[in-house]
Amino acid sequence: MNEEIPNYDEAALDRAFTQLERQAREAAAALNGEADVEAFRLEWMGQKQGRLKEVSGRWLKSAPAEAKKALGLRFNALKAVVEGLLAEALGHGANAAATDAALRAEAIDITLPGTRRLMGAEHPITRTMNEIVGVFAALGYSVGVGPEVETDYYNFECMNFPPGHPARDTQDTLVVSNQDRRSQRDRLLLRTHTSPVQMRTMESQPPPVRIVIPGKVHRNDAADATHSPIFHQVEGLCVDTNITFSDLKGTLDHAMKALFGSAVKTRFFPSFFPFTEPSADVQISCIFCGGKGCKKCKQSGWIELLGCGMVDPAVFAFAAEKQPGYDPKKILGFAFGMGVERIAMMKYGISEIGQFYAGDMRFLGQFV
Ligand SMILES: [Zn+2]
Repeated sequence: MNEEIPNYDEAALDRAFTQLERQAREAAAALNGEADVEAFRLEWMGQKQGRLKEVSGRWLKSAPAEAKKALGLRFNALKAVVEGLLAEALGHGANAAATDAALRAEAIDITLPGTRRLMGAEHPITRTMNEIVGVFAALGYSVGVGPEVETDYYNFECMNFPPGHPARDTQDTLVVSNQDRRSQRDRLLLRTHTSPVQMRTMESQPPPVRIVIPGKVHRNDAADATHSPIFHQVEGLCVDTNITFSDLKGTLDHAMKALFGSAVKTRFFPSFFPFTEPSADVQISCIFCGGKGCKKCKQSGWIELLGCGMVDPAVFAFAAEKQPGYDPKKILGFAFGMGVERIAMMKYGISEIGQFYAGDMRFLGQFV
């Protein structure tokens, strides 16, 4: 460094510092690439031989006491300029350019509308199932669930469908393949009704039992407007020492009024199910015409909705193998079952069962 300040008056200081600042600015303007920037940093701000160091060392030390303050102020201003120039030069280096590009790529336009997450809602099948379960829960029933892949024993045999019984033909069954080595009762199938959970519940607890069983069931049915190979049921089971058919009628009459409105009437017709004796089909007065007769009820004024009956003693005998409390001579009970899809179709006026499973948001959105 060869700058010398002959005397320390203000004009000389201004000249000297103005020249230094001009040199720094010119040098900074000519920088090209990281190596240049580093050279600039060393020349001006190097700890040993940097020009700022030299100014602060040599000039400040040799300045008379009365000039130190004026010199110090100018030195600080020059230092700020050099630091600013260096920061600017570093900001335009290769690394900084890459960082800038990355930031630009990640930039978010906060003026754009945000990504809305759709609120979930219950599927109409789930909602209907929960409504049915809720009616019985209010009567003191608890909820039971069980496996969808069942054994032949639980799905058929213990429900009083012996092997080869013609009633098995009414439920076209989807059977798991390659089970020839298993015994008939251990062979796996997709449950055709939620009834297996009745037996599983009785096996796991002594009477009394009040349980509703919502769930998915499978049958080898061709899909059409009202049939699907997969559908949902809610079954119910009530077991105690003094259960009568009147209890069954009263319970289901109450449940139908709770589901479809207090004006709904019920009536019971003899029917057949292997696991109940006697068995009945339940009809409700048409909810569309109030019983006068319309297209929906085929002018009859009544709609068939569910099956029910008193639990067959043969079913209790199977339960008693594990829980002696289900002695068919000592206890009585009733059971019922209804299709969830059918009830949902009636409640919401849906004519195609397939719409429940199509996943079409235009359809499902109507139930939000
Ligand atoms: Zn009608």
